[in-house]
Amino acid sequence: MSSSRPVLFLVSADSGCVRADPDAPHVSVMDLGVTRGDGIFETISVCDGRAQALEAHLDRFARSARLLDLPEPDLGLYRQAILAAIEAHDDLAELYVKTVLTRGIEGTGVPTGWVYAATAADFTSARTDGIRVVTLDRGLRHDVAQTSPWLLQGAKTLSYAINRAALREAERRDADDVIFTSSDGFVLEGPTANVILRKGDTLLTPRTDQGILPGTTQASVFEFAQAEGMNTEYAVIPVADLLSADALWLVSSVRQAAPINSLDGVERSIDAELTAQITSYLLGRRD
Ligand code: PLP
Repeated sequence: MSSSRPVLFLVSADSGCVRADPDAPHVSVMDLGVTRGDGIFETISVCDGRAQALEAHLDRFARSARLLDLPEPDLGLYRQAILAAIEAHDDLAELYVKTVLTRGIEGTGVPTGWVYAATAADFTSARTDGIRVVTLDRGLRHDVAQTSPWLLQGAKTLSYAINRAALREAERRDADDVIFTSSDGFVLEGPTANVILRKGDTLLTPRTDQGILPGTTQASVFEFAQAEGMNTEYAVIPVADLLSADALWLVSSVRQAAPINSLDGVERSIDAELTAQITSYLLGRRD
């Protein structure tokens, strides 16, 4: 896959959205996004120049801001920056756009925002051959979002050091990715993806009130399944149900649907036909 330079727009209430040099420094060493990971982001798939699930991503961006008591992002400005970044980027089959909002430079109370478009990696192998996944205990109960909302479970914050550490642990266990489980034995999500199980004609995903991110890709997969006459269900899913499921996927923006071909070192068959249909639906989304 060819690559080209990222396209950057800075976003602020004062200046609107302004194109900037992606190779030049723009964020202060005193920015709370850098010093404390105190901020939020979204990563949006772009296929054939179309930002996918754009409004769902913008809604979730605003929701994350509310959960962190950040100033409400100007979604109109962010939408404008996203579309302008895609327009200005080299015309490649698959890009991604990242939107960021931080609490800003310490003491100013003025948030820092930016948007950039960049070339997506080639995920063909993950989408077709599948991925090896291990389950890891997140160490939190499944009801943590209700009992301890200050832990911000379910907000898309910039504090992804734990998510990256989990992926390194997966690598140590000879796997590609992770399914987090709750300390009380339920399936949660991946570090950057939602989990989908197939049981017969039903697709299931963990209920999103369990301290997990409501996924835009998972929502699109459910739309596809419903249009195909399948049942869809949000459920509280015991970890043992992963073993009895007919097929498993991790789904997320950019990588899209990755079928799971091994769980905790035990090989599993993938549903190649349904995966291909889901991938084609996801890549073909018009909005
Ligand atoms: N869960 C977490 C923790 C994530 O970081 C992500 C994606 O970034 C997802 C789920 C999947 O969300 P989406 O499909 O909207 O990309």
